[in-house]
Amino acid sequence: MLNPINEIKSNRPSSKPSFDLMDVPLWQEFLEGMTSSFGCLAVYDREGSILTSPTKTNIVCKAAMGTVQGAKLCKEYCLKAISKALNRGEPYIFECHTHQYSFAIPIILDKDVQLVIIGGFVYLSTEDIKRFHDKAGGYEMDESTISSFTSGINSLSPEKFNTIPNNVMALALPFFKGIYRKGMFEKRFYQMKSVFNVTSEFLQPVSQKDAYELALKTLGILFNVESASIAGRDGETSFRTYAAFGRNWDELYSLVIPGSIDIVNRVTATGKPEGSTDRDVLRKLAVPEGINSIHLFPLKRESEIFSLLVIFNTTLGKDDINLISALCRQLSIFVENISLKEDKAKRLKVQSELYAASGAFSSLLEPEALYDMVLNKSIELVGAEQGSLMILDEKDMALAIKATKGINKAIVEDFKVRIGEGISGGVAERGTPLVVNDIEESPVPRKNRSRFKTKSFVSIPLKLNSRTIGVLNLSDKITGEIFSAEDRDLLLSFASYASIALDRGTYFKMSEELKSISITDHLTGLLNRRYLQERLFEETERAKRHKAPLTLFMIDIDDFKSFNDRYGHPAGDQILKTVAHAIQEEVRNIDVVARYGGEEFTVMLPTTSKTASMVIAERIRKGIEETPYWGPKIKAGEKVTISLGIATCPEDADSMEILIEQADRALFMAKTGGKNRVVSCV
Ligand code: GH3
Ligand code: MG
Ligand code: MG
Repeated sequence: MLNPINEIKSNRPSSKPSFDLMDVPLWQEFLEGMTSSFGCLAVYDREGSILTSPTKTNIVCKAAMGTVQGAKLCKEYCLKAISKALNRGEPYIFECHTHQYSFAIPIILDKDVQLVIIGGFVYLSTEDIKRFHDKAGGYEMDESTISSFTSGINSLSPEKFNTIPNNVMALALPFFKGIYRKGMFEKRFYQMKSVFNVTSEFLQPVSQKDAYELALKTLGILFNVESASIAGRDGETSFRTYAAFGRNWDELYSLVIPGSIDIVNRVTATGKPEGSTDRDVLRKLAVPEGINSIHLFPLKRESEIFSLLVIFNTTLGKDDINLISALCRQLSIFVENISLKEDKAKRLKVQSELYAASGAFSSLLEPEALYDMVLNKSIELVGAEQGSLMILDEKDMALAIKATKGINKAIVEDFKVRIGEGISGGVAERGTPLVVNDIEESPVPRKNRSRFKTKSFVSIPLKLNSRTIGVLNLSDKITGEIFSAEDRDLLLSFASYASIALDRGTYFKMSEELKSISITDHLTGLLNRRYLQERLFEETERAKRHKAPLTLFMIDIDDFKSFNDRYGHPAGDQILKTVAHAIQEEVRNIDVVARYGGEEFTVMLPTTSKTASMVIAERIRKGIEETPYWGPKIKAGEKVTISLGIATCPEDADSMEILIEQADRALFMAKTGGKNRVVSCV
């Protein structure tokens, strides 16, 4: 139980001048040995950087760390505990934000070398578990995560817990002191660590590749490495090179390390570094010409090995290997930070894209422009080269292509896909996205037509609530890669926004159609010119038949241009509305008031003689002249006047056209006569 220290120590002659403190396997073994009695333990340095990962997974910590809010709080509590423990020089017990109890044990080896063991992470009462449950939702943890806690939570009686910190300290301090020798502590560790920390802090403008290369370069300088690379898991079986440094860097980029080779297998199985100079091994690894030795170091996330640090043509002593192993822990965190930051940067990019798009969407009234915009934005978002946007026509339940990129639109213009048919039709029917890595092996197999560069294809439904309104298809990533789950998610969130905009576009188009058959003027609410002409035709015919007079007023606002110039167009619009209202007020129900155009109005007065109509006309003119108030922004006492021309059928004209012409002529005379007056045809 508590014996590993002695055993381990006895295995290692204490006189051996080595960089013992960084003997990670020994260190890790020691902590694991204590775990069975004392629970989870992890070692941090003074700044809160983790030096050995927790010896046991804790589901509550893991879930909390997985949320932005939780990770921030974990870090705060952890840092506070570290400084408390180091300041006191004795164990510090604390309850963290998850209401678990933990302890921090100071291991002060000298002024510069101060470590803290943090352990515990246990619940001491069911009350505390409940308290965490209640607030877990606030961290945006999903229901299934929260409910999974019930089964895997660590709990302990307070009495038992209270004895642990002192025991751990009693065992750990002599252990660390025993393996630590002043002066042996490698400066390199802290040098490297600070490079990692600083780089990941300021990573925003740096690409993942640049960041890795910087890490490799630092490693190269500090350990006098000839060449090195970082290779990430590429599927289940192999590791592909992400970044390379040193003499062979350009050749190393094409190196793919097969997971099936013994040495790689062992490193990934044991999590321990390994090296080889065996020609046979090197040949199997297919390393570039001139490489005679290799060292593989695993990079771990949790217990999963996600990348390898590979060092070529460099003689590494045991101390170097231990030190690099310890640094790999930092490197893993660094690598993980980079991908998290990249992810965040990507999300931010989407958000700003969406934001920009939302502005553009609302200003784009033409549906065709909207279609192009939606397609282009989504193409930009995931870096695709080709794509099409299909919109569902509910009449025949078929998708019609509305926008294309990289495909000649003319060719596909009349192309329709029925719901349920082919890839897009299937996506529309199911309402779920489809990512095809290899189009030839898709559920709807088809030949990879030569116009596609790659075989990867993504098809995203555009949905409003549960209703599919279209499908977005993208292919050919510029990078030549296949579409990832991340691309799919990006597109889905974009699609949800675009769908709303697109639907508005449809409404717009419909309202345009409605407008074309409408009879009212949207500004003034009066009947429009179209309607007037139709009615006037009917009424002139009737007037002629019945020999009943029909009078037409043509009204034009005086000096309206100068109003617009002085007060602006919106104020001008206000005047138009007021004038329209004033005219309407003075006429009978059967009279038809219409906006003829700009600032011109007409009134059609059936069965009204010229003489009778002149009274009405004069009333209108006077009413407008005497209107006291024109609008909030218009100077008090500002006068608006109109000129009005009168023509009557059949006495002045025997057709609609001539009636209008004559009224216009009368109006012209009113204008030339000095405006603000009524003139009738003579
Ligand atoms: P006149 O007395 O000779 O009629 O002078 P005017 O300035 O009224 O005549 P003109 O035909 O030169 O100008 C008419 C102005 O009416 C120009 C145009 O900007 C304005 N206008 C036309 N339609 C609208 C509208 O819907 N709203 C506003 N605010 N102004 C309009
Ligand atoms: Mg005019
Ligand atoms: Mg005018």
